[in-house]
Amino acid sequence: MADIRTYTNAAGFYEIRMESIGGLGANLAGKMLAEAGVLRLGYNGSNFSSYGSEKKGTPVKTFIRFAAPETEIRSSSPIEEPHTVAVFHESLLRTENCIAGLPPNGTLIVNTAKTPDEIKTITQLNSGTIVCIDALRIAVEEKSRVNTAMLGAICRVVDFLDENAVKQVLSETFGKKYPALVTANIQTFDRGFTEGRVQEYKSQQQQTHVPFAHPKSTLGYDTQPLGGAIINPGNSVTRDLSASRSGFLPAFAPDSCIHCAACDETCPDMCFVWTAKQDERGRTYQYLQGIDYQYCKGCLRCITACPTDALRSIRETDGYADEHRVTHSVSA
Ligand code: SF4
Ligand code: SF4
Repeated sequence: MADIRTYTNAAGFYEIRMESIGGLGANLAGKMLAEAGVLRLGYNGSNFSSYGSEKKGTPVKTFIRFAAPETEIRSSSPIEEPHTVAVFHESLLRTENCIAGLPPNGTLIVNTAKTPDEIKTITQLNSGTIVCIDALRIAVEEKSRVNTAMLGAICRVVDFLDENAVKQVLSETFGKKYPALVTANIQTFDRGFTEGRVQEYKSQQQQTHVPFAHPKSTLGYDTQPLGGAIINPGNSVTRDLSASRSGFLPAFAPDSCIHCAACDETCPDMCFVWTAKQDERGRTYQYLQGIDYQYCKGCLRCITACPTDALRSIRETDGYADEHRVTHSVSA
């Protein structure tokens, strides 16, 4: 096992930032990783998460700091320049500045079916290490969650972490409450460890280091126009909820649809797109055209509500939502 001092920054810390969404288990993964580092491996360590709202599906950042035993960790600030970033949902690369602060020799781990070269193109990183792990496929196959596959991928590239220590913590954590899930999660961890595709990039050019920027409020006490005028009212037209989906979405089969609107009544995000049509007797009725996947968070409640086979749950594949999206006219 490598010496942590080889990797630490000027403050003596090794820092990991997990970029995730509520429900994927990044918070628990961070706790288990920190516990393994501190209680099993003897490092100093700290861990905490930052949430937006409590809603499942919204962005979550989890921070883990490690240091050698002689270095105290007195900082509890968010990690701005991590050695390693682990992205739990590929769509976050589109909606969040996940790689902010990653140094030229940093490591980016992404839950994706794409290759490191494809992720390099998307993120425009030109040096460092990219690890692609299809954590969702592994989790579906093992009937577990993506967080333990991501932990396996992290342990593979962070040399001073011992995978057996993390697996012991994993067994204890799940063993207390859900003993039936221990085996599946250990297998998920092992597959995350071994199945990641690791690619190192070296660049002659200067690395386009993306500096960390604190998000600024667009409407707050210091930015609001005089008189309290709201010149840019908030709305959900531009909201992209694709990052909220955890691998599954509803597929619509128009031929089986009876236009009963049960799906529309249960959908919390008004994803269903309707148009007026006339039946053979000239009466107007509402015809379901399809789903606007931009707003679909993949809760799958509509499938339970549908009385026919018109809606079914499918594993989301790359490009499916864009290809089958029926756009609400307001966002056209
Ligand atoms: S899964 Fe169905 S109910 Fe849930 S947000 Fe998507 S369309 Fe709406
Ligand atoms: S619930 Fe099913 S059958 Fe009814 S409108 Fe929706 S998709 Fe069509």
